[in-house]
Amino acid sequence: MRQTVIPHIGMRIVKTAVAVMLSYAVFAFLGLTYREEYGGIWGKLGPLYACIACIVCTQSTLGQTLRQGVSRLIGVAVGGALGVLVLLLGPLAEGPGRVLAVGAVCVAGVWFCLLIRRPAACAMACIVPCVLLITGVEGADRYYYAAARILETAAGVLIALLVNLALPDNRQEETAPAPAPGKEVKPMQVEVKNTTKKLCVIGDPVLHSRSPVIQNTMIAALGLDYLYLCQPVARGEAAQWLACAKLAGYAGFNATMPHKVDLVPLMDVLDADAALFGAVNTVCIRDGRALGFNTDGAGFLRALAEAGIQAEGRRVALLGAGGAAKAVALKLSASGAERVTICNRTAARGEALCALDPLGRLRPAGFGPDDLRREAAACDLLINCTSLGMGGTEGQFEDFSFLEALEPGVPVCDLIYNPPETELLRRARALGHPAMNGMGLLIHQAVLALEHFTGTAIDAAAMAPLIRAALSAD
Ligand code: NAP
Repeated sequence: MRQTVIPHIGMRIVKTAVAVMLSYAVFAFLGLTYREEYGGIWGKLGPLYACIACIVCTQSTLGQTLRQGVSRLIGVAVGGALGVLVLLLGPLAEGPGRVLAVGAVCVAGVWFCLLIRRPAACAMACIVPCVLLITGVEGADRYYYAAARILETAAGVLIALLVNLALPDNRQEETAPAPAPGKEVKPMQVEVKNTTKKLCVIGDPVLHSRSPVIQNTMIAALGLDYLYLCQPVARGEAAQWLACAKLAGYAGFNATMPHKVDLVPLMDVLDADAALFGAVNTVCIRDGRALGFNTDGAGFLRALAEAGIQAEGRRVALLGAGGAAKAVALKLSASGAERVTICNRTAARGEALCALDPLGRLRPAGFGPDDLRREAAACDLLINCTSLGMGGTEGQFEDFSFLEALEPGVPVCDLIYNPPETELLRRARALGHPAMNGMGLLIHQAVLALEHFTGTAIDAAAMAPLIRAALSAD
């Protein structure tokens, strides 16, 4: 029998309604309801774009609200500028020319927003100039109209932020329960019903992936109606897979090599970290739209915090400049590390990574023994993001003497979790340094991904022992 799922009216919906009501009330109270008699920009002001901004921006976290809000503001500003520019063409943009102009502003709006990596700005960048062109706003009114849309959107974003600050965060309220104490949880025993939502990991190769074990363990422990599969997808076929996943009703998927970069331009909405790293490892499919996230950087920060290490003010020596190094380094910089020195064997790759940091806190260095000793002596956190020491590979550090240059007590992290203790960590621990392996990152990035898929916060501390047990039994 078909089961009806009753949607839950959660805090996010309540926040949206409150923000919209507040926006309307503020504009109405000030008498700003598109009253032409006011003239100038005041005559063009009303609550509509503020309400729309609230609907789009009232997300479950302040960060999401801010990111969406900034994208919206950018979209409106780009759209306003495009519309005004086209109207300046005068008779060229009249009659049949206007049809072409409407198409041209859409192409230009989307293209520009994708160029500046703001896919969430695309819609407004098209809507504003289309409205300007289609409603035939003329003369100075066109500038007032565009400026009014920007002001309304800014007011809406501000109201959305205030509402999000004032009302409780639904990620706290809707936290999925931890398993009851004493209740035995059998990893991987996921109950499959007709309503069960599908998730998977894609990659090439992917059959070695531990993600199904990790995710299904959490799904079973939390009693969620999801199933997580392993899905090989050949290199270059991310777009076909995405269409297929939408058609097959997948709720989302994780991506590993070689798809993380290919997925970026395929997303309808890109989270700030995914845009910054230029890589997507988590895709949520909602209402046919693909929302791309990257949980590696945030997962690493959570793992660091769990080990009692804060990123703020740290001088970091980071070894490696591959995919994992990129996420970790850029996230450390964004989270207030004083500087992050990228020591990489291939200098050009290290330099390219440093150039990506909008805050300019990354700087390149060499990978020779002298370079590593110098950087170790000058850091207060050392992180290995190379594959040196990873199980199943031949690679190993030729010289560990750089560890002796570390100041006493400087923590050493290795992203590798297999083996649980690499030679680097063994030696660091023997010298008295706190040592952290990559298991924390593995767990936290997976927890964050499941949080995105399900829209609920998950108690990572409760999940960690279950995941460790499931991985060691697998
Ligand atoms: P990647 O993109 O292939 O990058 C590999 C990095 O290692 C590059 O910087 C490379 O330097 C360096 N490297 C490889 N062999 C080297 C050698 N012989 N001497 C010096 N440097 C060498 O790999 P990735 O995806 O960033 O992964 C890096 C490590 O992080 C892997 O061990 C992976 O298992 C681990 N990781 C762990 C997690 C987790 O959840 N804990 C997540 C992601 C990754 P060049 O640029 O010079 O080639």
